[in-house]
Amino acid sequence: MQDIFLLKLGEVVLKGANRHAFENKLKTNISRRIRSIGNFEVYSRQSTIYVEPKDDLSDMDEAFEALRRVFGPVSITRARPCEKDMDAIFAAAVDFLGDDMRAAKSFKVESKRSDKRFPMNSIQISQELGGRLAEEFPDTAVDVHNPELTVYVEIRDYAAYVHGNPTPAGGGLPLGMGGRGALLLSGGIDSPVAGYMMAKRGVELECIHFFSYPYTSQRAKEKVLELARLLCMYTGRMTVCVVPFTKIQEAIRDQCPEAYFTIIMRRFMMRIAQEIGKEDGCQCLITGESLGQVASQTMEAMAVTGEGLELPVFRPVIGMDKEEIVKIARKINTFDTSVLPYEDCCTVFTPRHPKTKPSLQETREIEAAMDFEGLVKEAVANTEKISVRP
Ligand code: ATP
Ligand code: MG
Repeated sequence: MQDIFLLKLGEVVLKGANRHAFENKLKTNISRRIRSIGNFEVYSRQSTIYVEPKDDLSDMDEAFEALRRVFGPVSITRARPCEKDMDAIFAAAVDFLGDDMRAAKSFKVESKRSDKRFPMNSIQISQELGGRLAEEFPDTAVDVHNPELTVYVEIRDYAAYVHGNPTPAGGGLPLGMGGRGALLLSGGIDSPVAGYMMAKRGVELECIHFFSYPYTSQRAKEKVLELARLLCMYTGRMTVCVVPFTKIQEAIRDQCPEAYFTIIMRRFMMRIAQEIGKEDGCQCLITGESLGQVASQTMEAMAVTGEGLELPVFRPVIGMDKEEIVKIARKINTFDTSVLPYEDCCTVFTPRHPKTKPSLQETREIEAAMDFEGLVKEAVANTEKISVRP
């Protein structure tokens, strides 16, 4: 018999009429994520999703790593199946959890019996297994109140399962339950974190990157694609739309007052992202803006940046310090790629004195004097769509 994975669902989302939709979406997402790793069956019983390999060819460590990042479950455990008798259960516990037992200062056993034909009840199972484990591992104390390690036994229809402490999993809501959003993905630290945070709330992502070749290099584009691939560990396959931005940046440089370079550029980005996003079913725009971090991220500048859009703009890291954002970037493994030193299009035509309080009226006048709509249309039409996967 092969090990299986148990994914526990958070309790809040399981209440009410959404439970079914939630579980079905999650099962689909899980199946999709591990399809390339092996042949697994995915089913749910009582707030637990079971992922069971159908042959012994599947890479269980790789599956664990993939499942750990699926949004929805709060924890994941790998469990060892065995015959439904106490000798077999004891042997499985020693074999599977021996190292954990030796490392822990204290332990207890918790049992669940869904097969009521099993001759012992759950208390008896815990007592019996607890006694035998205490004898086998004399240096590990029994502590039923606050144990370092809990050994779980579940007696189910076809087998008994033994497992140890669960590992925290993705949390949040299953991808797709929260709609779809267009993430403006730069090569920086903040926007991948912003994307991760929205995806965790169930939002499917499409990435949009503005690329100013030759002012920004092919390697800068590769870096962004790599960031998207890292995000795919959480979201599964994604599309990255690479928007040619050179002509627009040159038009801004040639036709706009320098203090307005950044704000006009950001408005172009938002409008283009909106047009591409709408075509692809996105219901919001997502950016990595954080209040006060740079001149274009003051309250006034963001009001002008987002003015006139149809889609709402979500900025999930708006209230976070750089340090807090970096902590998440490290956790989701995007930090090391984000800090690679390739230039971003924003850094190419940076004004010496950007406006922190741009005037909307002036902004509109500047835009009216250039072919704003034409440039947006052309950029959207020439966007390259690249599919990325983990
Ligand atoms: P980040 O670390 O995400 O690059 P930042 O602090 O450098 O953010 P800005 O460069 O002002 O801030 O960009 C703010 C937001 O605008 C980014 O978080 C991102 O969502 C979007 N953005 C900036 N440059 C690009 C780009 N070249 N392509 C796509 N989106 C971009
Ligand atoms: Mg940036």
